[in-house]
Amino acid sequence: MKILVDRVTATPEAMSFSVSPQWLAQHFGGAGQAAAPEGLTEDARFDVRVQRIGADILLEGELSGSLDLACSRCLTRYRAPIRERFRLVLEPAGDRVPADPEGAAALAHEGLYLADEIESGWFRGPEIHLDRFVGEILALAVPVQPLCREDCRGLCPRCGIDRNVASCGCSEERPASPFAVLAPLRDADRK
Ligand SMILES: [Zn+2]
Ligand SMILES: [Zn+2]
Repeated sequence: MKILVDRVTATPEAMSFSVSPQWLAQHFGGAGQAAAPEGLTEDARFDVRVQRIGADILLEGELSGSLDLACSRCLTRYRAPIRERFRLVLEPAGDRVPADPEGAAALAHEGLYLADEIESGWFRGPEIHLDRFVGEILALAVPVQPLCREDCRGLCPRCGIDRNVASCGCSEERPASPFAVLAPLRDADRK
């Protein structure tokens, strides 16, 4: 996924890329990659409009598809549609070098350096590779606390039953004392 800088003009050009689960696993599947989401269920679409504004390049568009997620309350896996809009303004890097080594390497090898909030950055050279940016946008689309539904009742903390599909007799309160189970015996003694 790349943009040829020479081709970018003041007239917005629409481009569309397909993001497959395989591609994602290849680029972000390694250990320690925070950008890897829980999983795309099928190919996602990365639609972008590219335009030159003065010396800058503006990228606007959205990533859409669906994710396979695990509910944070009941652990059920479910599919959630995603639609993440983005707007990225890139300035020519010129002679500037990003302070962090990772950013400097990205600018040198991928022609793209992203600032922290990934709404701005620098570009350098004839090609801007978007792979890392797509990964970041996808990571943004993954909910911090996935819920299979707004009112998911979750699992019973005591017996583990899924309270969306069944109910159990567990009381919500903790037993008053670990010896509470002995109470009936004690009472029987008194009879
Ligand atoms: Zn749930
Ligand atoms: Zn229970």
